[in-house]
Formats: sequence, C-alpha cells, structure tokens
Amino acid sequence: MKAYYKIFLFPILLLFLSSCHREPKRAQGIYLSQKELVSVESHPNPKSPPLFPWSAQERELPPITKEFFRCKGSSTKRELQREGRSPVKLIDCEGGLVHSLPLKGEKEFIYPPLLSILNFLQVETGKKVIVTTGHRCPTHNRFCDASSYNWNSKHMVGAEVDFYLDGMEQKPLEVIQLIQNYYSAYPDSFRTFKRFGAASLDISTDGWYNDEIFVKLYLKNEGRDQDNLHPYPYVSIQVRSFEGEKVTYTESQANNYLRD
Ligand SMILES: [Zn+2]
Repeated sequence: MKAYYKIFLFPILLLFLSSCHREPKRAQGIYLSQKELVSVESHPNPKSPPLFPWSAQERELPPITKEFFRCKGSSTKRELQREGRSPVKLIDCEGGLVHSLPLKGEKEFIYPPLLSILNFLQVETGKKVIVTTGHRCPTHNRFCDASSYNWNSKHMVGAEVDFYLDGMEQKPLEVIQLIQNYYSAYPDSFRTFKRFGAASLDISTDGWYNDEIFVKLYLKNEGRDQDNLHPYPYVSIQVRSFEGEKVTYTESQANNYLRD
C-alpha cells in the first residue's frame, strides 16, 4: 500500500511544485503594473498649461475710450458705386486719424453712457468689445449707408455705437440683458426697459429703451452697411437723453468736427 501511495503522491507533488514555479511569473506581472503605477505617482503633479500673452481670458482688456470711436472712413476704399436705377458714386472720408471726433466746446466728445456701458460689458464678461462703428462724419455716414433711414444717424454726433463681443458673437441677447443689468442700481425709469415695435425700424426685432438709451439688435443678415460687413449679429446703442437733455441729431453738431 505504501509503495502505491508514493507512486500517486509523486505526480501530485510535481504538479504542485510546477504550479509554485509559475507563481513568480504572475507575481512579476502584478509587480510590473504596480511599478508602472508607482512610477506615474512618483512624477511631480502636472502643471497648468503656460499662460500666453494673447490669452484673452488672462489678459487685462484695455478700457474702451473715445479712441475706439474714431471714424472708420478709409482712403483705400474711397469710391463706391451704388447700384440702382440711377447709380451714384459715393466718396468716403480720409478716416478718423485725419479728422476729429465731434466737438463739444473745444474738446472731442463721445456721450459718456456709451463708454460706461461698453466698459461694464467687458468687465462683466471678460470679453473684448469690438466697436464696428462709433463716430461717422457725414461723408462716411453717407458712404456707409446712403438710405434715407440713415440720414439722421446719431453716429454723426457721437451718440451711437455698433458693436459685438469677441467670443459672444452668437449671444447678442445675453449682451442686451447685461446692458439692462447695467442700470440695476438706477431709478425705475432707467431700470425698466420697454419694447419698441420693429415695424418702424430697419430691423426685425423690437428694440429696447429706457430713459437714457435705445438698444437695437441687428441679426446677421440685417444692417450690413460698409462698417458692418462682418458675418455676426451686432448690437446698436443710441443715447436718447443725457444729463436731463434730449439727444438728437443736428446738422450743426454733425458738422462740428475738425477736418485734416
Ligand atoms: Zn470720417
């Protein structure tokens, strides 16, 4: 009996030993993956990507000043043939580096609420305001848009601005909501915006107005004058009143700027 026992025991022992022999391979596999894990953990924590000077998020945006409002006329596109029954050749001005902004007293003047609101938008959003039209001298105003609707544009007296926000091009309604938020600490007549029917405007969206400003939204296929040939919707703000006085276009103020 004992001899048979030894005969059967020997293969079992061999099997056991061979399985013990394989064990280090499995252990080595586990060990290697642990080593890899340890080696990853031993690296220093990855740092944030470097901040580039052109990163709009990190850059302090330059404040919007009256310099952003200079007339966009250009000597490089001085003539424009307006198509129609009686074609008219329109002549552009030399641009806002050649002539001044409108004058009030002897100083160049842009209505302060426009500057305040644009700077508010930049601070609130961290996005850059792109002024597409600030001041237009009468020559450039005619060159941009010769339609009768534009004859009395407040761009000519420094009381109107067209713009969009870099990075919020497709969110003009959010921008318009922020403009309303700008007046949150003002009296009721400023804080409460009313709507103005689009039927009498050159746009398809009703305007917004309070005691101080009138806001219009130009969709991407509206208001494509020579200053607004970009593909984005844009917002226009006109000043209605300032320091208790009604603000309107007058020919004398539109022509009150220094040429050359
Ligand atoms: Zn001009």
